[in-house]
Amino acid sequence: MYYDEENFLMLSGIQHYTFCKRQWALIHIEQQWADNYLTVDGNFMHANVHESTQFEKRNKVLISRGLAIHSYELGLSGICDVVEFHECENGIPLKNREGKYEIVPIEYKRGRPKENDADKMQLVAQAMCLEEMFCCTIAKGYLFYGETKRRMEVGIDDEQRQLVRKIVEEMHRLYERGTNPKAKPNKMCRACSLVEKCLPRSAKKKVKDYIDERIGE
Ligand code: SF4
Repeated sequence: MYYDEENFLMLSGIQHYTFCKRQWALIHIEQQWADNYLTVDGNFMHANVHESTQFEKRNKVLISRGLAIHSYELGLSGICDVVEFHECENGIPLKNREGKYEIVPIEYKRGRPKENDADKMQLVAQAMCLEEMFCCTIAKGYLFYGETKRRMEVGIDDEQRQLVRKIVEEMHRLYERGTNPKAKPNKMCRACSLVEKCLPRSAKKKVKDYIDERIGE
């Protein structure tokens, strides 16, 4: 199946969806957003990446910043923080460039590597968009974490591609229905920028208990 451009979803939403389906729905379906220190810090970091030179060459590596990407198969569009094109014999040719290149996406994140796969899924989705756009196969990408100041290599395989397809299909289904999953309070709620809008603990309480509690405040 291929999606029309008007039905494309934001690629960055895959990290919200993997973190919490309800958070994704609040942001992308109900269009609510609340900056907390995590998102503000993250945005600042991305601004630094995107404000740099758009395209430069260092030795045998072409570096592109802020490259717009999309996939008709996934129905996603977004921006890559950094895409490196490494000159190599087994790579693919690029328009107006000599040589052949291997494509390597790099996503910048604040903090340190997370317990969940949200960042990895976003990177794999970026790789899949680049694969469709450049007719190639991407074997790896990197996640750069601001706190550790290190790149973490992420191998990209068919199992991950299949997982991304499944997640994105769910996102499209939910978006079409326009419904928001119920809150499921969990340890991630403490770091969630939408906790004040979501009110996960209130959502779990019985309505009568909640009203009684608020009257008593
Ligand atoms: S507060 Fe918790 S349940 Fe609500 S959107 Fe955030 S992570 Fe999800």
